[in-house]
Amino acid sequence: MTLPEYYARAEEKLKNGCTGCGNCVSGCRAAEYMPSAPEPRRTQKDILEFLRGGEGPSEAAGLKAASCMRCYGCLDVQCPIGINSLQINELIAREMHRRGKLEWDIPLYPVHEGLARQGTTEEEYRRITTPVADGKAACLFFPGCNVYKQPDKLLNALTILDATGEAYSFAPGMLYCCGSSPRGVRGDVEWARQAAEKLFAFAEDLKIKKMIFWCPTCMSVLQDRIRPFRHIPFACVSLSGHMLEHMGRLRFPHALPRRITYHEPCKNAYMGIEPESARRVLLSIPGTELLEMKRHGKNTACCGGAAAGSNPEVAGRAALRRLREARATGADTLVTLCHNCHLLLKSALKKQREPDWHFSVENFSTYVAGAMGLARPDSLT
Ligand code: SF4
Ligand code: SF4
Repeated sequence: MTLPEYYARAEEKLKNGCTGCGNCVSGCRAAEYMPSAPEPRRTQKDILEFLRGGEGPSEAAGLKAASCMRCYGCLDVQCPIGINSLQINELIAREMHRRGKLEWDIPLYPVHEGLARQGTTEEEYRRITTPVADGKAACLFFPGCNVYKQPDKLLNALTILDATGEAYSFAPGMLYCCGSSPRGVRGDVEWARQAAEKLFAFAEDLKIKKMIFWCPTCMSVLQDRIRPFRHIPFACVSLSGHMLEHMGRLRFPHALPRRITYHEPCKNAYMGIEPESARRVLLSIPGTELLEMKRHGKNTACCGGAAAGSNPEVAGRAALRRLREARATGADTLVTLCHNCHLLLKSALKKQREPDWHFSVENFSTYVAGAMGLARPDSLT
């Protein structure tokens, strides 16, 4: 079965078999951040009416779809017909496209490109946008697209990779895509399939043994949307997972005593993808003490994620709750792994102006490269 066939079947299953129980609405992790609690059965009834060709989407159905943080927290919500809430949101987007309410043919990277140019020298820009196909390298690094909006993180990641001493090829994130670009998110699953195929065919041609990912979203897409439909003949790990294999080679001469708390990528935690690798890297840096937030590991919380663009109110509430949890730990630094969580939490910290924000937000790449004495400063002030 292909990804588009899988979606076509899911749509039929939903339209013909949904019991209307509302578990997918009540189980959505964004529900607690909505201004008023959604009515699960009524919302699902509206969604079904729209998908079956009726009017809509209604306000409740539209709000449910727009509030999606893309946290993947609904993969284990009990649905009698085996559909998750995220997929339903994408089916709503597909139906909106069919009715001419949502454009698919959109420019993908205008903001990424502009910010990447602004934040780099000409040589650095060339480095992060030029593919490298090294036939002798056993690894391929793929950073995803969104980190180009904060190129300092990508340059730090490359510095860390260089320090591991292992050669690698490079698939630039504005040339290759996991399928989760804005067009894929809007429900164009055939486009998403083709995009992922291009990336994995490039990797396969290089006969690599390992693909190294920067972006947690790409890793979740790999697990949820690519692996079930395509054989992948090599290992896939995160940058921190790759670092763990090379810790003996890494030196941290500039490490300082720090009390950190760690905001992990929720989607990877919910899906059980490398739950400990970044923690283990951080704890191997001399002087680092880790103070966990109340919600962490499998029980962690989203920063607001993708809702920042479609429902900023929901995203703002999620980020504020997370910052308060970080404050309660007494840490001096909130370390983020994902650049997108970093943007949301750092912006919220600046905007919310609560008393006693006695901590800063620092990205994993800046923290680690900083302990090495090689960090580029954070482009977000
Ligand atoms: S991905 Fe997260 S926010 Fe989106 S529907 Fe699933 S649980 Fe809700
Ligand atoms: S959980 Fe499944 S069966 Fe229940 S309303 Fe949602 S899609 Fe329908």
